[in-house]
Amino acid sequence: MDSLSPAGRYAPSPSGDLHLGNLRTALLAWLYARSSGRRFLVRVEDIDTQRSSRESARRQLEDLATLGLDWDGEVIYQQDRYAAYEEALAQLPSYECYCSRKDIQETSRAPHAIPGQYPGTCRALGDDERAAKRAELAAQNRVPAIRLRADASSFTIHDALAGEYTGEVDDFILRRGGQPPADPNQGMDWAYNLAVVVDDAFQGVDQVVRGDDLLSSAPRQAYLAHLLGFPEPEFVHVPLVLNSEGVRLSKRDGAVTLRQLLAEPGREVGDIIRLLARSLGYDTEELYTPTDLLKRFKPDKLSREPYVWDGTV
Ligand code: GLU
Repeated sequence: MDSLSPAGRYAPSPSGDLHLGNLRTALLAWLYARSSGRRFLVRVEDIDTQRSSRESARRQLEDLATLGLDWDGEVIYQQDRYAAYEEALAQLPSYECYCSRKDIQETSRAPHAIPGQYPGTCRALGDDERAAKRAELAAQNRVPAIRLRADASSFTIHDALAGEYTGEVDDFILRRGGQPPADPNQGMDWAYNLAVVVDDAFQGVDQVVRGDDLLSSAPRQAYLAHLLGFPEPEFVHVPLVLNSEGVRLSKRDGAVTLRQLLAEPGREVGDIIRLLARSLGYDTEELYTPTDLLKRFKPDKLSREPYVWDGTV
């Protein structure tokens, strides 16, 4: 297979060990890719330099391998991809934004403002105003953010589970502003929406399977792909795992990571595979590896409801 043949992927952010919800999404991404003859890639999304670490990435890759998921080719790290993001940014209509988080909160509280949406404060500034604002930030050792100059306010995608989905597009951030890192080679952090679109296209990803908490980001990403001339991937936003209170599973829920679950005496990886299989609606216990699940995988049978986990294996 050539390196740009169709691919699916799992793209974790390395800020902690993978928990049952992450593992379920990873397994589904693998099942969707493998059952459709695609390559399966793993990409480390470490653009949030404050929260990411190489050690965490190493442990996550080990967790995926322990579960029995395999991937094709080298793992790519977003921190090695800054030049590609720079190149994409140069092709996009954009502008500098000098607003602090507080400025945005205050303006978006105004009547008629859409909560959380960038109100466009810096969109129409003139050159002199920009120079003054840039100097003001520089005096505080800060640099402006860069925002997309969007010419749409919404975009519609097709999701294999959610169907047609229209979501908001605003002048979202492409590169973060703020205090530059001490190391001048490091540069400012890139925004997830830009990095994900550039990397998916670069890697030949035409199927994006991920948690449905990201469904609302998909229209922005598809719009960006469209602006950059990239094909839109097939989206499959899969339901999350919730705790018994109906809240999205997190580390606060106790023993939830693969490592914690496997630390229980007598517990084997197969037990976790069977738990995941049950969560996906498999009706047999004769399952030991992801390959056993692959043989019986029926994407059409996947529940569209979140999986509520009571903590038992
Ligand atoms: N890195 C994101 C996360 O761990 C996933 C992004 C994606 O799959 O597009 O939540």
